[in-house]
Amino acid sequence: MSEPSIFSRIISGEIPASVVWQNERLIAFHDIAPRAALHLLIVPKTEIYANVTDLAAGDPQLLAEMVATAATLAREHANGEYRLVFNSGASAGQTVFHVHAHVLAGALTEESLA
Ligand code: AMP
Repeated sequence: MSEPSIFSRIISGEIPASVVWQNERLIAFHDIAPRAALHLLIVPKTEIYANVTDLAAGDPQLLAEMVATAATLAREHANGEYRLVFNSGASAGQTVFHVHAHVLAGALTEESLA
């Protein structure tokens, strides 16, 4: 059995995070190293999907819920316009292999696509 991901440790409350919203299936919190005026992560509470490709194949409804949540949070925390980023694979910048969406809004930094 592998160790829980850093996001599972946030979901269980073991590690603190700045949580803005959650329901039974998803949690959203501020990225610890923001690359935009608003930089949230939306994370499924299950870690069985390592990346967005696996999630889309295994639970497309949950992926759709993540997109709808991004839109809602961008309206609540910014002007409603946002960039949605899923890094998929280490060479594409993925560091946590528990699928998550980056919601970026407002002023972006130079590294905002990384
Ligand atoms: P990625 O590189 O796409 O896998 O994204 C992982 C993201 O998780 C990075 O933007 C990190 O800054 C963020 N991150 C890592 N640890 C934490 C944490 N404890 N709380 C909030 N965000 C985190």
